[in-house]
Amino acid sequence: MPDTDPASKSMEAIVALCKRRGFVYPASEIYGGINGFWDYGPLGTALKNNIRDHWWKHTVECPPIGPDGEPVSIVGLDSSIIQNPRAWEASGHVGGFSDPMVDCTETKKRYRADQVLVMVSWDVEDGSGDEPNGAIDRLFAFNDSDDKSYALARKKAEKFAKKIGVTVASNPTIWPLTHAEFDGAYQYIVGPDTETPGTLTEPREFNLMFETFVGAIRDDSAKAYLRPETAQGIFLNYKNVLDTMRVKVPFGIAQIGKSFRNEVTPRNFIFRSREFELMELEWFCAPDDSPKWYDFWKHERMRWWESLGVSKSNLVFRDHAEDELAHYSKMCVDIEYKYPFTAPGYGELEGVAHRGCYDLNAHTRGTVNDKSGWKNEFSNAKMEYLDQERQQKAREAGLSKEEINAASKYIPNVIEPASGLTRGVLVLLCEAYTEDESRPSKVFMKFKPRFAPIKAGIFPLVNKDGMPEVAQKLYMGLREKFTCQIDAKQSIGKRYARMDEAGTPYCFTVDGDTLSGGTVTVRDRDSQSQERINIDQVEKFLAEKIGE
Ligand code: ATP
Repeated sequence: MPDTDPASKSMEAIVALCKRRGFVYPASEIYGGINGFWDYGPLGTALKNNIRDHWWKHTVECPPIGPDGEPVSIVGLDSSIIQNPRAWEASGHVGGFSDPMVDCTETKKRYRADQVLVMVSWDVEDGSGDEPNGAIDRLFAFNDSDDKSYALARKKAEKFAKKIGVTVASNPTIWPLTHAEFDGAYQYIVGPDTETPGTLTEPREFNLMFETFVGAIRDDSAKAYLRPETAQGIFLNYKNVLDTMRVKVPFGIAQIGKSFRNEVTPRNFIFRSREFELMELEWFCAPDDSPKWYDFWKHERMRWWESLGVSKSNLVFRDHAEDELAHYSKMCVDIEYKYPFTAPGYGELEGVAHRGCYDLNAHTRGTVNDKSGWKNEFSNAKMEYLDQERQQKAREAGLSKEEINAASKYIPNVIEPASGLTRGVLVLLCEAYTEDESRPSKVFMKFKPRFAPIKAGIFPLVNKDGMPEVAQKLYMGLREKFTCQIDAKQSIGKRYARMDEAGTPYCFTVDGDTLSGGTVTVRDRDSQSQERINIDQVEKFLAEKIGE
């Protein structure tokens, strides 16, 4: 069986297939592209929509069964990408949604400071371990997880070492560029893409939100932001939903949509782009129930990714350390995938965060502190929830008025499973990409059939003798239920090869025996085996194989 370990797959080959077969193209390619932006081609759009629809169905239309054996309650939303800018001040994004960034004054390149490492140690002949004069004045920076960048930094270090009569240690000490000890040492650091030291600026915070202007006047009063996450649109509508939808805590609001982050270093194909799509659920629950729900969603979301056909061995949980938590988060776990460019390590696919009552509090009057003091100007919304069941129970228990209030009034806590839809596309592309020297295409995309962009190929063996007409009739009967393609051009081998690269799970061929005996061949993408079935059975066959 071909290898399914992403570590053995080449990202260059996957990107090339995506271009060749119409999954993903560089945006504005004819103008030289635009860094961090991608266009989804016909097959990529279909794949993305299949993942999106599966998430919506299993989150909103047919949500999972909760810990108490009942389906959980979740409603959908589609909020505006641009909101009142005060919403982003209240949420903490204007003040705090930033990455540390360093610039190179020589090359004008910009790096995320937390993704740059520095090499600092030398072998000194006298064995004292002391660094010789001169060596101490030179540090070599390179991009984290980029072997070529490290090799280049080493080469530069070796050249310099030779000049001053020392050697670079075989295992040099490597520290993050942001390490406190480098304060004041930037003049000695040679940047990843330069020869001379001192061209890197000290890290400074860079806000990731894209700015725009609303209306005809372009001044600060008209400034607005493209949303960097869909979550805030949900918090802004929490009261609306509560007041209009007859939902009770615990419940969820789900939303899928475009998000924009002016990433300092977009990279790794569509993994980190500047425009991407998110699938977010905000789950509102009583504060004392929140650990139970955090645990529930953590496992539920892992199960969901497995339901897309992603193998268990390529997915892991990674709990965030306390110093890694975002400004709003109490606990957070990432679901990570073993991407070809992180293997044997893993990279983020989804974050499940316990946001506490941070956001609802932040959007409530008088609860935001922007370091200059408490501000009372964000909104007048009352986010407090009256839990009538708890109130009733407290009354029945004979508690005092204060005790009843304390037991039944609270600002709900939020558990947020936030997954990247476009990152999900990348995972399915990496997972499906399978090399196989035995077939003409040498590679096939092994999507789980229900996520494949095209479910069936329909081929007349030759483009004459009545075969095209029979194939056309078969196609017309299937097209409303399954995405299929009819193809009469080129040899049958070439047609199979094209469908293998598109990841089409089944191909039906109309041949001489169809005309005489009413059967077609079905070719299975993964095994390449062929069987004959009656032409009347094709629809049933596909329905069973593609299933739920
Ligand atoms: P990172 O630390 O990698 O910048 P994050 O932790 O800020 O990401 P979240 O804010 O938790 O990411 O976003 C939720 C999900 O959105 C991520 O798990 C990922 O799938 C997706 N995502 C975030 N940023 C990007 C991006 N620039 N391009 C594509 N997907 C992204």
